[in-house]
This record gives sequence, structure tokens and C-alpha cells, in this order.
Amino acid sequence: MSSLEYCLQKCREIPYKRGEQRHYSVVVGKRGRLISEAANSYTKTHTIMAKTSKRLGLEKEYCHAECLAIVRAKGKGHKIYIVRVDAKNNACYSAPCPICAVLIKEAGIKVVEFSV
Ligand SMILES: [Zn+2]
Repeated sequence: MSSLEYCLQKCREIPYKRGEQRHYSVVVGKRGRLISEAANSYTKTHTIMAKTSKRLGLEKEYCHAECLAIVRAKGKGHKIYIVRVDAKNNACYSAPCPICAVLIKEAGIKVVEFSV
């Protein structure tokens, strides 16, 4: 299974709740080894997410999958996968938001692949 397929599978396993989006993110090394992974949260935020949104003059957000995966990767990682699935489990557009785009760049992650 490719990292993208794995990411999609995990995303589909997130329980569906009306009004909430399901995102999943995976960080891998240069050879594709899984380093960290995370789902988004509607109940928790993260300091780095809050600080970065403030820096960019944006509203505070709950913790995005990318953010949590990056934090868990502890400075490692070459590539990040980001996926989102709709109510019917179909992959849909999941480009990182401006906050996560900054976090990805500052974490030194070179390649970003997201579902479309
Ligand atoms: Zn984000």
C-alpha cells in the first residue's frame, strides 16, 4: 500500500460527524518510511497552531491534521501527505491552509501531496 493509500484509508476510518471535516496527514522520510501521522481535531488546539495563526493575523483554529503530524515528526520528514474525505468517503480537495503551509515550510518538509 502506498503512503497516499494508507493516508486515505486512515482518513476513512475517522468517524463521520455532520458539520465536521475529516482530514488525515502522514509524514514520511526520503525513502517513504512512515514517521508520524494524525487526524484533525475539533476539540483540541495546539500552541504552534495558535502562535502561527496569530503571526499571520488569522483566526484561531482547532488543530489541523498536518499540524499534529508535523509536531509528532519532531523535525524529521521529507514529504507530507494530506487527505480529506467527504461523507461518502470520496477523497476531496485538501490543500493546506495558510497556517499549515507555513508550518510545513518551517519544518523543512520539501514535498507536499494532497488529495484533489
Ligand atoms: Zn491547516
